[in-house]
Amino acid sequence: MRIDKFLHAMRIGTRTQVRRLIKDGHISANGERVLSGKQQVNPVSDAVFLDDEQVRYQQYFYYVMNKPVGAITATVDATDKTVLDLFNTTDYRDDLFPVGRLDKDTEGILLITNDGALSHALLAPAHHVTKVYEAEVTGEITAEQVAGFNEGITLKDGTQLQPAQAEIVAFHEIENFTTIRIMIHEGKYHQVKRMIGTLGERVVQLKRIKFGSLTLPVGLLAGNYRALTEAELTALK
Ligand code: URA
Repeated sequence: MRIDKFLHAMRIGTRTQVRRLIKDGHISANGERVLSGKQQVNPVSDAVFLDDEQVRYQQYFYYVMNKPVGAITATVDATDKTVLDLFNTTDYRDDLFPVGRLDKDTEGILLITNDGALSHALLAPAHHVTKVYEAEVTGEITAEQVAGFNEGITLKDGTQLQPAQAEIVAFHEIENFTTIRIMIHEGKYHQVKRMIGTLGERVVQLKRIKFGSLTLPVGLLAGNYRALTEAELTALK
């Protein structure tokens, strides 16, 4: 493949930055200075260097994002901002996609990768990846009410859910809403909102704080993302 394409794909810089690095003599391949972005390299077997640092071939990329309210979990959309639109030009690749879905008005942890096999495994019903949500719910909800989730409830449309665990975090008396933490092991459409609907109440704010072994990183603000650490990736697989 072209060396400029390779360097961009390895997140060395934008296409313009990569062209400048080549022009300024910072790139070599197999010990020879690279003079043109058009030069062909084998990403796996050729030794490409940016100054003294080898640019190693990486096939898969993994990011954890704190999805903001308002962005949709899609790769492209004609009207709405997608989670991929939040990527900067260096990190963006057109093969990245979000693993699973969060509603447009839901915030929180979202895995974004180009690893189709991992995504498939994590979303497979048999895998039972646990997700934890924090929900702000209208009215006062009691521990007794949410204890019923543990039995595996039936939604209003007849959908039978697996057992889920929920705890009351706080009841906010003045504003009359309850903060609840809910752990689910499947991913049905609008699942948390519909579970709360069975109690006759409504979710007004929803945030996912755990996805499998991944926890929403402290300090990762809504709309931001970062690469997974090696430890996070190993735990996820
Ligand atoms: N449950 C919901 O209702 N919405 C989400 O975005 C995720 C889980």
